[in-house]
Amino acid sequence: MKKHAKKSDLTHPSKNGYERITPADLKHSGEINKLYMDFIARAKTEREAHDEALLLLEAAGFRNMAAHEKNGTRLRPGDRVYRSCEGKTLMAVTVGKKPLEAGMHIVGGHTDSPRIDLKQNPLYENTGMAMLDTHYYGGIKKYQWVTIPLALHGVFVKPDGKKVKVTIGEDPSDPVFCITDLLPHLAQDQNKKSAAEAIPGEGLDVVAGTIPVNEKDRKEKFKYKVLKILGAKYGITEADFLSAELEIVPAGHPREAGLDRSMVLAYGHDDRVCAYAGLKALLDLKGIPEYTAAVLLCDKEEIGSVGATGMASNFFENTAAELLNLTTSSYSELALKRALSNSWMISADVNALFDPMFPSVYEKRNSALINHGVCVSKYGGARGKSGSSDASAEFMAHIRRIFDRNGVIWQTGELGKVDQGGGGTIAHLMARYGMQVVDCGVGLFSMHAPMELAGKLDIFMSYKGYLAFLKDGRK
Ligand code: MN
Ligand code: MN
Repeated sequence: MKKHAKKSDLTHPSKNGYERITPADLKHSGEINKLYMDFIARAKTEREAHDEALLLLEAAGFRNMAAHEKNGTRLRPGDRVYRSCEGKTLMAVTVGKKPLEAGMHIVGGHTDSPRIDLKQNPLYENTGMAMLDTHYYGGIKKYQWVTIPLALHGVFVKPDGKKVKVTIGEDPSDPVFCITDLLPHLAQDQNKKSAAEAIPGEGLDVVAGTIPVNEKDRKEKFKYKVLKILGAKYGITEADFLSAELEIVPAGHPREAGLDRSMVLAYGHDDRVCAYAGLKALLDLKGIPEYTAAVLLCDKEEIGSVGATGMASNFFENTAAELLNLTTSSYSELALKRALSNSWMISADVNALFDPMFPSVYEKRNSALINHGVCVSKYGGARGKSGSSDASAEFMAHIRRIFDRNGVIWQTGELGKVDQGGGGTIAHLMARYGMQVVDCGVGLFSMHAPMELAGKLDIFMSYKGYLAFLKDGRK
């Protein structure tokens, strides 16, 4: 019988990462955070995140798998490829030494964030104002989105397929948009409502203009003025809103926060922070990994991973099938199933940080703390772990081994008190294949708010942890 390891201290206190981080990692953290801030300044929608990721992948020698699929050229260990879905969802891969049937190491995050979408027929006027009607996307606290500067990002697609990209409100010379709120002097009734009811869903319409056109017989002169401006600048008409995806997001760039510049305040950390950390880890993965290393940047997580670009679709499975077909001479459904069930995955999504302003909703000993490192959540779900893809103790042991061996500062954390809340990620959708999956990502303050707050050390440790996971040889 083996003797138990002797340890002078049997306890495992959670320690602030700044008491443990090496000078080399501290310097590296500064570099990674700067690159991340550059990335999210340009990637404020899932389409933009997809396009920015493609630029980085192409620059690092990743090639479109579609070319291989078309002409049948094989993929060999070390080859770097990607596969795109409708310009929104993306999977990038470095082919490993072992056959795909042995499984992949996958880091999967999402690039859609809560926001306010324009309706299909958005433009109208009322009382001398041109307005844009909206339908919010994802779980937002609506009162947070009024009276702040907003930008319009998106795409119009003409019937001939021509795409017109639109970004208004990001350049300092651009105008911005705004949703109005009631002055306190007239808010007696509003103040009595719950926070959820104070601003109704139909109360999030955006002010688009207030000058009429100077045309005598024109009806709806204020609305027409906006159409004239859009027509002159982008060549679009009112009908083009019918085939468009236009997203209202907070205007402006991410900022360093705190006197010590230890945090990043930005729109869309959830989940571009984990998506970027995963992507950057794959880009920085040197040599040929033992297992095929994959990163998934997916869409529609915030509304349940539905639709063709969400992880409930077959995109991931189809991509794995194409990969198998290009890396083996004996493709079979059984081999595909083995490739999927033998895979290991980090579901890279954000978690909630313990917030001393709201201590009653957290259980402190099992909540993620700022600067205590990347947060691993064995399970999520709500009310009795319902809906959770509870990771096995065996897989948790592998994650411990990988992170501890590679100097990753990490912690565990549960989203809030039992029976208080809980949340979902894409973990359960990947666990369907029988693969090992665990949630692991950056803790946030003010999740789903227009501006979310994250610690730089935690952001860096997610990158470091994902990189260690992608290159791990399971030994
Ligand atoms: Mn998320
Ligand atoms: Mn979310």
